[in-house]
Amino acid sequence: MPYAFWTFRLLAFAFLMPGHWGLLAVLWAGGDCWRRWLPPEGELLRDETLQDMLRRCGLAEAGLWLSDAKAKGKANAGFAGAPWRRRIVFSPALCQGLPFELQTAVLAHEAGHCRLRHEEQWLAGGFFFWMALFALMAAHWGVWPVAALTVAAWVAVRQGRPLLAPLRRRWEFQADAFAAAQVGAEAMAAALERLEEISPPAPSAVVPYHPALQERLARLRSL
Ligand SMILES: [Zn+2]
Repeated sequence: MPYAFWTFRLLAFAFLMPGHWGLLAVLWAGGDCWRRWLPPEGELLRDETLQDMLRRCGLAEAGLWLSDAKAKGKANAGFAGAPWRRRIVFSPALCQGLPFELQTAVLAHEAGHCRLRHEEQWLAGGFFFWMALFALMAAHWGVWPVAALTVAAWVAVRQGRPLLAPLRRRWEFQADAFAAAQVGAEAMAAALERLEEISPPAPSAVVPYHPALQERLARLRSL
């Protein structure tokens, strides 16, 4: 799929640049949305209590999924699907390792990301990035300027993580606070502690997008 995806992107680039750079940016940003909003792998997880929590979080239309596609054996949760058809995804290791009442807290945290529209903000940022890049390319159209801008954009994406980390970390604190409003700060803190026990974060994460456990616990206890 990535091969076909990038072939399509390059063909769109070849046909639309430099005259239609705005349309190209829309198409590339649309591709980012499409990739992130694909239906998740896995199976439907039926549980009335968890579904009820989703309703309380304002996500009555969302569903629950069990999938190991992204977690790859680790205890992890996330969300997938388009904003109007969200799926909260639990990994099997999370379901096995986390007591049920703490699963509710994790669910509320993920629901918080959805309700606070963190992904939409991220994708909007991507759209403006493509707009700026293609506008610059169109204004300096030529083999060498375009090659230089391509390399510069690639380096910016690779090296820009430290600059974006504070924003991503703020979103984690916001999702924790959202969950604490639903299940209580103590339950959210207990879920984070248990998750760290069963799936410690990789020490190689140089720029962790998730704040350290102690920082998150301190924030939760200050609410
Ligand atoms: Zn989160």
